[in-house]
Amino acid sequence: PRLANQIAAGEVVERPASVVKEVLENSLDAGATRIDIEVEAGGVKLIRVRDNGAGIAADDLPLALARHATSKIHSLEDLEAVGSLGFRGEALASIGSVSRLTLTSNSDEQGSEGCSAACEGRDMEVVVKPAPHPRGTTVEVRDLFFNTPARRKFLRTEKTEFNHLEEVVKRLALSRFDVDFSLRHNGRGIHNLRGGQSVAEQQRRVAAVCGPAFMEQAIYIENAASGLQLRGWVGLPTFSRSQADLQYFFVNGRVIRDRLIAHAVKQAYRDVLYHGRHPAFVLFLDLDPAQVDVNVHPTKHEVRFRDGRSVHNFIFSSLHRSLAEVRPADHVS
Ligand code: ADP
Ligand code: MG
Repeated sequence: PRLANQIAAGEVVERPASVVKEVLENSLDAGATRIDIEVEAGGVKLIRVRDNGAGIAADDLPLALARHATSKIHSLEDLEAVGSLGFRGEALASIGSVSRLTLTSNSDEQGSEGCSAACEGRDMEVVVKPAPHPRGTTVEVRDLFFNTPARRKFLRTEKTEFNHLEEVVKRLALSRFDVDFSLRHNGRGIHNLRGGQSVAEQQRRVAAVCGPAFMEQAIYIENAASGLQLRGWVGLPTFSRSQADLQYFFVNGRVIRDRLIAHAVKQAYRDVLYHGRHPAFVLFLDLDPAQVDVNVHPTKHEVRFRDGRSVHNFIFSSLHRSLAEVRPADHVS
């Protein structure tokens, strides 16, 4: 099983950013409303994530580190109707096999005070001991890939690794406006995002995540038709022209990258503004979950729409209308 864990780790754990993704998704699955992330050396030296979610009972701590142990799937029907973000039960085991992992948690049952479980690389000898912790969980991952030099060689500079990691935090922060997030790197505060569901509060978060320059140039759009709902912010071309990577698209709350959607957005920009270069946007599409398959691949952010053509048309026409309404004369040249 040790070797199996390390092989599985290759699929899930590519770099510090993938650790953060798995760990944050677990916090969200546990119903956390506040998540604090602390990182050192781009995440290679330390990733510590603390949440105020449901916690893990002491007896279940070793299980949480075991491969194929998930508390989220109990039957085949569950697997098909999976609503939680993680469901394969291998993330923590994989991370633990290539790092020094400590899990400290308190499920707050019958006045429990908290327990921690630690494992170190391949040895996977899980030691559980009492450790005070408020309700919730702290996952600490130290020295990522310390025992897999081959994988460590593929890591880029501290700055690059941190950028990837920050990107994961940004995506999740945009997908859950109701949750507080904070991120610190090498002792410096990078993000401190307060939760809030009103449009004004959401707008503040988008500005904090995407930069104030985006928000100054963005328009808010909202449209609904035949079971499809689209809302969010799109950048006007003066801004968009200079931004290559500010493109966030969420389907039923999950970030995705999809060629059909990219094409629809690009085409709307091109049609109204005579160019489709680097549109910048933060958009949320909601539709009947039965109309979309989001589990095409658990790590690749792909989706498959039942009716791709009407999704394409809906996004194109929603954007086209909003962009055409606001197009100031000086954008056309
Ligand atoms: P999965 O998320 O696919 O179930 P993981 O390996 O990511 O598998 O996590 C294993 C189990 O550990 C989860 O099913 C859950 O029961 C527990 N767990 C992990 N992180 C947390 C957390 N932050 N809060 C509560 N439970 C957690
Ligand atoms: Mg998980």
